[in-house]
Amino acid sequence: MTQEYDIRVSPQVAANEQSLRDYLAEEKGFDVRTITHLRILRRSIDARQRTIFVNLRVRVYINEMPEDDAYQHTDYPDVSGRPQVIVVGAGPGGLFAALRLIELGLRPIVLERGKDVHERKKDLSLITKTQQVDPESNYCFGEGGAGAYSDGKLYTRSKKRGNIEKILNVFCQHGASTNILADAHPHIGTDKLPRVIENMRNTILRCGGEVHFQTKMTRLLLDGDTVVGVEAVQPQPSALSPLTFRGPVILATGHSARDVYRYLAESKIELEAKGIAVGVRLEHPSMLIDQIQYHNRQGRGKYLPAAEYSFVTQVDGRGVYSFCMCPGGFVIPAATDKQQIVVNGMSPSNRGGQWSNSGMVVEIRPEDIPDDITENDALKVMAFQEQLEQNCWQQGNMRQTAPAQRMADFVNNRLSYDLPKSSYAPGLISSPLHFWMPEMITKRLQEGFKYFGKHAHGFLTNEAVMIGVETRTSSPVRIIRNTDTLMHVRIQGLFPCGEGAGYAGGIVSAGVDGERCAEMCAEYIKNGER
Ligand SMILES: Cc1cc2nc3c(=O)[nH]c(=O)nc-3n(C[C@H](O)[C@H](O)[C@H](O)COP(=O)(O)OP(=O)(O)OC[C@H]3O[C@@H](n4cnc5c(N)ncnc54)[C@H](O)[C@@H]3O)c2cc1C
Repeated sequence: MTQEYDIRVSPQVAANEQSLRDYLAEEKGFDVRTITHLRILRRSIDARQRTIFVNLRVRVYINEMPEDDAYQHTDYPDVSGRPQVIVVGAGPGGLFAALRLIELGLRPIVLERGKDVHERKKDLSLITKTQQVDPESNYCFGEGGAGAYSDGKLYTRSKKRGNIEKILNVFCQHGASTNILADAHPHIGTDKLPRVIENMRNTILRCGGEVHFQTKMTRLLLDGDTVVGVEAVQPQPSALSPLTFRGPVILATGHSARDVYRYLAESKIELEAKGIAVGVRLEHPSMLIDQIQYHNRQGRGKYLPAAEYSFVTQVDGRGVYSFCMCPGGFVIPAATDKQQIVVNGMSPSNRGGQWSNSGMVVEIRPEDIPDDITENDALKVMAFQEQLEQNCWQQGNMRQTAPAQRMADFVNNRLSYDLPKSSYAPGLISSPLHFWMPEMITKRLQEGFKYFGKHAHGFLTNEAVMIGVETRTSSPVRIIRNTDTLMHVRIQGLFPCGEGAGYAGGIVSAGVDGERCAEMCAEYIKNGER
């Protein structure tokens, strides 16, 4: 027999399976020895009051064991010899597109400019050691894409539950903990994600697909207004002339492939400028955030996870909000080129670090971009983003040492005489962010911080440090596609996909978009258009 219950328990009871069994036996009148298995179906923390509860939906197995896995299994057939589709980019958009193509009986050929997820890690540690960024292998480029070394948060504002659950189940099938199916705010963690990504790649290879690392698409092969493949290069001397790969193209190159946007613009492939959000990473001691969010001077105690927060307000007609929070995480150098500083955040699965950080950003619309930005209209937000990152690099002494300022000093337009310790490994340098960052950002951030400080007592403090600049929040460009076929508005056989195309923002939504593009590409092939 199985029974499902919605229960509200203390964090201590929720933290341990035996105490949960004892609780259920007593509350529901079972003999505890008859409970053979428990499955948590939903879990969320209610920290609105001083006394904190964990809300759970639990399935209790009485005198029987579950017959199914905790996740839904997807079958991946052998697709050797089947029609091929070129997937450019091995981020979540590209990887989920490739897996879905296999489900649909098509053979994905994945091209990725960066290295495999393990080799890539070496280049990430070199950023701190040498203060140099490898433009082809960094926190944004390489297998797993921008989200591989991240917090691995898997929540999205998208409401299509079915699609989201599919993505989470595929992650579980490839090694993620099934906790992600239950948690209200699921995350995988940077220590676990690379293994999951490697398993996804192995599924693609085992089924007869191909994955080519250090293979950068340089142009589309066009037959009139139809894409028939791509040209790509590999590092010298392994290939002296460009390689060609033939088939329809799912273009999932992410929000940081500026060379791809420039190539598309030069080739007159329809694009448009898109709004983004820009600001800083804000880092507090995680104890302080725990104290604020859990209303307890002792912090989170033994049984609660590092606390999260989410703030949003409007200042002068633009949103100011926290973004991509990493409780117990690290601030990381996420630039993709040598002469720029970009910061972002990641956390390990236990979120056990000393600090908690989050992006604090201001909404920027294309019409906000100053006139002196000279790029083509579709690329003007990207050019603004790029200019700010280069400026930040100059303020950081032309290294990856990031300009930073204490939070209250920033609000009061004061230079910080010293800086607190920080998780940002390349180092910080005190800098008047209020002075050199664009006023349309700093003035709104200052007002936003005052507002957040009123709502969360202790949040606005000089114990927190702001680190410049957070610019890669989403894509500054949209590659315009047909809303029904998901194909480019003019170019047949080209499926702009994921965050870089401007249709996703985050790991899960990029995965969902990848699956949808694969489905539309399969329709295109089935209809004999190619
Ligand atoms: C540090 C960091 C932390 C993040 N944390 C989270 C988080 O916790 N949760 C969350 O939901 N989102 C997070 N994000 C955002 C998330 O990673 C992205 O939304 C997501 O990865 C977008 O997926 P994508 O596949 O569309 O693009 P990407 O992940 O950017 O992948 C694009 C891939 O294409 C490759 N590529 C680019 N150009 C070419 C080319 N010419 N030829 C071949 N390959 C190419 C790139 O190397 C890259 O691997 C984070 C981002 C960063 C940078």
